[in-house]
Amino acid sequence: MELLLDIPVRKTLHSRIKEVDFDGLEFGKYISDHMLVCDYAQGSWKTPQIVPYSNLSLSPSTLALHYGQTVFEGMKAFRMEDGRVNIFRIDRHYDRFVKSLERMCMQVIPRDIFTEGMLKLIETDKAWVPSQAGHALYIRPFMIATEERFGVKISDEYRFIIFTGPVPSLYSEPIKVKVETHYVRAARGGTGAAKCGGNYGASFYPTKEARLEGYDQVLWTDGRDHAYIEESGMMNVMFVINGELVTAPLSDSILDGVTRDSLLTIANDLGYKTSERPIAVKELEEAFINGTITEAFGAGTAAVVAPIKTIGINGKDHQLPAYTNKNLMFRIKEQLDNTRAGVVADVHDWNFIVG
Ligand SMILES: *Cc1c(COP(=O)(O)O)cnc(C)c1O
Repeated sequence: MELLLDIPVRKTLHSRIKEVDFDGLEFGKYISDHMLVCDYAQGSWKTPQIVPYSNLSLSPSTLALHYGQTVFEGMKAFRMEDGRVNIFRIDRHYDRFVKSLERMCMQVIPRDIFTEGMLKLIETDKAWVPSQAGHALYIRPFMIATEERFGVKISDEYRFIIFTGPVPSLYSEPIKVKVETHYVRAARGGTGAAKCGGNYGASFYPTKEARLEGYDQVLWTDGRDHAYIEESGMMNVMFVINGELVTAPLSDSILDGVTRDSLLTIANDLGYKTSERPIAVKELEEAFINGTITEAFGAGTAAVVAPIKTIGINGKDHQLPAYTNKNLMFRIKEQLDNTRAGVVADVHDWNFIVG
């Protein structure tokens, strides 16, 4: 890609890459040497800069620390079989970032700063992109309101930052989830479709309660009647019922997951039946009684698929059949992994090649 922006790079004199055990990566443990920083003030975005990863200095009255104007993205870059590096579905992540920013009344970052900034950052820290199959460089773009003021207001100043870190391919053991019928993650008209920090903070307490009851995660239901399944923890959720891959339709209470969209697309490509439609808790109960539900899993960037073994509905635990690598979720995950590794053709143009 031809770069339009001239982004200055101040390189670290003390690379930390030698401290990284690439064969024993843990999610979230290592952060790469550099970060991209870009400030918005007096009505304009300043020149983005790549600098050594370091602490921020913020006034205690920084608005983001009080009133929650914070938005983030979570995405990955992969090393392909031929050694080149790609960023997965950068445009779709940018578009979602913009939607989140708009919902939180924050300043939209121009596409070229997001895209070219990320490209140059990953070029700078290319040695940090792991080469083991399925491992990746996790990318965390985010924005915070930086105006210093303690009165409640929409901030007039923002800071956009991208940092990255190598992560392993996560295989999550099948988990136990509980259909939540008291707490709400997102209501219609709320911020559920925005990737904002507050959604996470608000989910911790119900999740902690579910853990005390012996579950790993919460299956969120609609905020009005608790009658329809929406998401699983901080992932989208999918089921295989009667051989069909089903997931809740997008709405303003559901996060438009890039993994969700990619898995649906691949399932269609491979000839599986898919459907985006409301899934009633009642339908799940009946599907367990009739034995027509064969898979349940979370879908998100960190793990791609997170198999579910048990679903607790109104105090009764229902078991999914044991999984094997023949299951639909693992077949579509494999096709996704192969697409990102460049082993199969990237027919949807999802890989944005860094070089
Ligand atoms: C980030 C997120 C997801 C998954 O989105 P991906 O783009 O697939 O990583 C799903 N639900 C919530 C609430 C999220 O924050």
